[in-house]
Amino acid sequence: MKVLTVIGARPQFIKASVVSRAFKDIRPDVREVIVHTGQHYDANMSDVFFDELCISRPDYNLGIGGGTHGQNTGRMIEKLEGIMKKIQPQWVLVYGDTDSTLAGALAAAKLDIPVAHVEAGLRSFNRKMPEEINRVLTDHIAQILLVPTEIGRQNLRNEGIADEKIKLVGDVMYDASLYYKSKARKPQLPIGLSDKVSEYVLCTIHRAENTDNRQRLTNILHGLSDSNVQIILPLHPRTRSKIAEFDLGIPENICVIDPVGYLEMVWLEANSRVIVTDSGGVQKEAYFFGKPCVTIRDETEWVELVDAGINQLVGDDTNLIAKSIREAKFSLLNSNIYGQGNSANMVVDLLNQ
Ligand code: UDP
Repeated sequence: MKVLTVIGARPQFIKASVVSRAFKDIRPDVREVIVHTGQHYDANMSDVFFDELCISRPDYNLGIGGGTHGQNTGRMIEKLEGIMKKIQPQWVLVYGDTDSTLAGALAAAKLDIPVAHVEAGLRSFNRKMPEEINRVLTDHIAQILLVPTEIGRQNLRNEGIADEKIKLVGDVMYDASLYYKSKARKPQLPIGLSDKVSEYVLCTIHRAENTDNRQRLTNILHGLSDSNVQIILPLHPRTRSKIAEFDLGIPENICVIDPVGYLEMVWLEANSRVIVTDSGGVQKEAYFFGKPCVTIRDETEWVELVDAGINQLVGDDTNLIAKSIREAKFSLLNSNIYGQGNSANMVVDLLNQ
């Protein structure tokens, strides 16, 4: 059997790494052909993940990035179609909610190749998010929808997707966090900071709704500043360029570092006091590592964490951001809401049928 995996962005490298390992472990006869669309191309947003997480080098690198959503998606579909025709895989495997996800799914569907979507069923119910459009469309053309949570299953049922296509497998990111926790590595931090490291707050900001809106970005930076705590911010390239474009200063309590590899990120998460983020993956990792999360968004796909009281949605409300960071607490949950840590094996098993 041949499976063609389409990936292109940081969180997809992490998710694919555990599924690729599962293929090698339990189905070594499967040939996995990896296509990297090139959506993320910087060394610290791409290469480091292939190196550290031991993902096989991509069989194809499309080198498509830097354009608009429409340009990127269109160019990806064209190139992917050619590759799929040549490889003729039994499955196309796509992850998450990026332009690469949608392009992979569309190219396959038009060629009548079945699509399996890992992390299906998530909804923010905010159609202004490009990610939401990518998710909804991908889910409606996939043959197997691999959902991480019961809520994901319910979202798909509500949209009329047939029950037999929906498979509850848990979250492959939970598998990743378990596997890589013992391999976590402390990153190089500026002198002086590493001594008081257990007191820091870890922050990531990269969603377009926050970075591309000057007022929102300003409010968020003010909220981080007003919290008066030491913050470590591995800065996404998009956020870096928007801060420069809007001529915003970095508050003194924020230590900006370059984006880190996953092993260093896991260390930073596991050793932080609180995590502040607009990332989907980082919200879950906060829970995996027992940290309270302050989410700088108006809504989240991971509603179960909010319902459990360990993730607070604060939008771009400056006062609420500062207060929530200061007061955030984690209370342990009994059940594991993201599966048993064997999701990748379940994905591979399902593709065999
Ligand atoms: N991540 C990382 N280095 C960083 C920031 C994030 O390895 O400097 C990881 C993080 O641990 C998580 C994933 O990237 O596993 C999340 O990716 P991102 O926030 O870009 O996307 P999202 O999850 O919002 O789709």
